[in-house]
Amino acid sequence: MANSKFEYVKEFETDDRLPPSNWIVVRIDGCHFHQFSVDHAFEKPNDENALNLMNACAVSMLEQFPDIVFAYGVSDEYSFVLKETSQFYQRRASKILSLTVSYFTAVYVMKWKEFFPHKDLKRPPFFDGRVVCYPRAKIIRDYLSWRQVDCHINNQYNTCFWMLVKSGKTEREAQEMLKGMLSKDKNELLFQQFGANYDKLPAMFRKGSCVYRDKVEETVKFDLTGNPVKRIRKKVVLGHFDIVGPNFWREHPEILEE
Ligand code: ATP
Ligand code: ATP
Ligand code: MG
Ligand code: MG
Ligand code: MG
Ligand code: MG
Repeated sequence: MANSKFEYVKEFETDDRLPPSNWIVVRIDGCHFHQFSVDHAFEKPNDENALNLMNACAVSMLEQFPDIVFAYGVSDEYSFVLKETSQFYQRRASKILSLTVSYFTAVYVMKWKEFFPHKDLKRPPFFDGRVVCYPRAKIIRDYLSWRQVDCHINNQYNTCFWMLVKSGKTEREAQEMLKGMLSKDKNELLFQQFGANYDKLPAMFRKGSCVYRDKVEETVKFDLTGNPVKRIRKKVVLGHFDIVGPNFWREHPEILEE
């Protein structure tokens, strides 16, 4: 583009490149999704289709952006971890954040009908986002643990709350009953009053969702004698694992390799 006398306005832009040698986390969260979930009659406390839609968007994110090495999602939020050496858009925070939020939102809208074939999208879903840098893989693991512990606390509370409400308590009564109740007492309440074993609820509700790349064996073709020709390929996969303990990370050391 030719220089013009107006070119100087460019000087007002500030350098927002994130520091090198840091893992980058982008966390997005649905704006006013409590209302959004009411408007679209989400099942309470966990609408499976809504979670599956969020997960499909996250899978699409990893397919679109190779620098995302891991994603963790729960409720209306998703965290995306970019590798510490990423040079994506020269690590410019505003570029990374805006691309993440807009791509995710666009896929959410595009895929809505796939997950809610009988529900019209009544208003535009939108997400906020933030970018945070973490200097060590250990802190990334702690970050992800923080989100998963939050998932557990919220899900346990919401499961109790909605069982009480669905059994006839008012929302206020349910709230009062659960105020200050210990975690083990909440499990006890579910078991005693509703015969529900918390640990038997779907892992997606209890653990949230993890998206990452894993080696999978695929049949690419069949040879002349009809035998399958296989090859190992990296594929974006989804699962509901415990990421607080060491097992998952021991089995997938390459994800957060420094
Ligand atoms: P904010 O704009 O501040 O994020 P919010 O209304 O989105 O406000 P959050 O704290 O982000 O509040 O919580 C998201 C809310 O969205 C949940 O409390 C729940 O009511 C609803 N929600 C999100 N996903 C689901 C789902 N899969 N099933 C049922 N409800 C959901
Ligand atoms: P980047 O990702 O770096 O922004 P880009 O391909 O989007 O790359 P831009 O400099 O933003 O490049 O230019 C946008 C391009 O999109 C234009 O050069 C043109 O080719 C195309 N484009 C955008 N809007 C229109 C339009 N209304 N009609 C025709 N072409 C368009
Ligand atoms: Mg929020
Ligand atoms: Mg929200
Ligand atoms: Mg939220
Ligand atoms: Mg452009």
